[in-house]
Amino acid sequence: MYGYNGRYLRINLKTKEIKVEALDLDVANKFIGGRGLGTKFMMDEVDPKVDALSPENKLMIVTGALTGTPTPTGGRYMVVTKSPLTGTIASSNSGGFFGAELKSAGYDMVIFEDQSEEPVYLNIVDDQVELKSAEHLWGKLVGEATDLLQAEHGAKAKVLAIGPGGENLSLIAAVMNDKDRAAGRSGVGAVMGSKNLKAVVVKGSNKVGIKDEEALKAVFKESMQKIRENGVTGQGLPTYGTAVLVNIINENGVYPYKNFQAAVDENADDISGESLKDKYLVKNTACYRCPIACGRWCSVDGVEMAGPEYETLWAFGSDCGISDLKEVIKANHWCNELGLDTISTGTTLAAAMELRQLDLVKAEEIEGEPLEFGNPKSIVEWTKKLAYRDGFGDKLAVGSYRLAEMYGRPDLSMSVKKQELPAYDPRGIQGQGLQYATSNRGGCHVRGYLISPEILGLPEKLDRFSLEGKAFWAKIFQDLTASIDSLGLCLFTSFALGAEDYAKLLNAVAGTEHTAESILEAGDRVWNIEKLFNLEAGISPNEDTLPKRLLEEGIPEGPSKGWVTKLDELLPEYYALRGWTAEGIPTDEKLEALGLKTAALGLS
Ligand code: SF4
Repeated sequence: MYGYNGRYLRINLKTKEIKVEALDLDVANKFIGGRGLGTKFMMDEVDPKVDALSPENKLMIVTGALTGTPTPTGGRYMVVTKSPLTGTIASSNSGGFFGAELKSAGYDMVIFEDQSEEPVYLNIVDDQVELKSAEHLWGKLVGEATDLLQAEHGAKAKVLAIGPGGENLSLIAAVMNDKDRAAGRSGVGAVMGSKNLKAVVVKGSNKVGIKDEEALKAVFKESMQKIRENGVTGQGLPTYGTAVLVNIINENGVYPYKNFQAAVDENADDISGESLKDKYLVKNTACYRCPIACGRWCSVDGVEMAGPEYETLWAFGSDCGISDLKEVIKANHWCNELGLDTISTGTTLAAAMELRQLDLVKAEEIEGEPLEFGNPKSIVEWTKKLAYRDGFGDKLAVGSYRLAEMYGRPDLSMSVKKQELPAYDPRGIQGQGLQYATSNRGGCHVRGYLISPEILGLPEKLDRFSLEGKAFWAKIFQDLTASIDSLGLCLFTSFALGAEDYAKLLNAVAGTEHTAESILEAGDRVWNIEKLFNLEAGISPNEDTLPKRLLEEGIPEGPSKGWVTKLDELLPEYYALRGWTAEGIPTDEKLEALGLKTAALGLS
């Protein structure tokens, strides 16, 4: 067996039945693991219309074909389920060491079904698999729960867990692993909480089979050289982490400020990667077999903790009109401990601040630190109240769309398909706007990172204001990303590597005969099956859109002044390139070409 273990765990949390099932390798190869494989299983086993927090939804922890192998960054896994935030397919990616350990325990995937009546966790030590009581862990922070489980099962055990955010069913709760790595987006932590599943602990002692060790050594060497020589993966990310982007994006006038009311923050440098490095950085950290080491380990007032990513610095910083870096680092730490998505948490606070600015949320509703733009003391306090659904925190816990809707202004939620947008204003980056709107899991930058060509000039520089070629690039980036997520590698490798490199890595590991074209086709297949899931779930193609502000209000000042996203002009070409109808629905011909069953779907 090469690349895959050829088996997975199926855990029924109600009956406590634990089964080991054989993985159909033809299916695994078709979807190359991870995100694709999980979505295929969701499509086959779960009615897309189910309530995401009901027993009928399933939670799948899925590794990729390269997870746990000696490939650069080959340690990632996906949490795949139906999202309670968006109602779409959810597939949230995480690094750290948990994914590789699960693979080395001998499983490609764990499927959790139904709900337990009492808190439990799953303990895996190779072939020994058992559900155990988590009564003593329920209510604990992620760090505390991890420490307790490692005290019980050994320091080498890798732990995936939810915090109070997931336990309290916040729709923006994350699944955490290795304490501070997050499968952050789309509320996957709430699904885990709804199942009364606190944690998964794993220890493995097997090696993943490699088909051609010599070929892998050669392609590994070649890939590592490209990663080291690339300006982003060899210098920018190791030196400043993802926060290297703060000044770059701000200087382009596409750095959202105060809930996207503007796109320049004159104090951005105070929360930049450079400031983080100068004032708080202790050392870099890296996930499994990662030569890039973009992670930040920081010290704040003598206490060491994981440092924030670019998106987090922005969400709690500029999007909330805040430039107090210390408070932003603390807010990031609390999101990790409480098990919350930092992007959705920070931006939900920003939406609440605009509702306060307009006096739609009244001062008397806010018991505690004023939830107002520019108040650095508000972010840690309200992050905690959100996780515990304390007072107004109960309204924050459902994310910005539902919050803004409660006050009659859903348009003030800067979200797509109810998931909060990240830290790039698409009005000045047209391709990114198209990508946001068409993302199958709602507002997201890592479904297709058009920032790479439109701002950073990789693999080639595109005019960020032009519409020409943007539909083509959006599709290519979306398809390639779907493949990288499925393989189990880090998206950041794509600054240096291309589809051909991924094909070579996969072929050496699994003995397949992939080409650059077939890697992109696999991504296209994943994208289409995600779209099918969403359509069957009742997500209308009309939801391929952006908040009204981004379509109608020009950026008020700065280098992108006056621009809006010209989505109406971009969508028709994008749908045509996808081989979909003008309404954005996959055609039978397209699905058949990708080997996806269409008979029962009746969509086109
Ligand atoms: S580049 Fe950063 S996020 Fe990606 S695997 Fe390496 S350390 Fe983890």
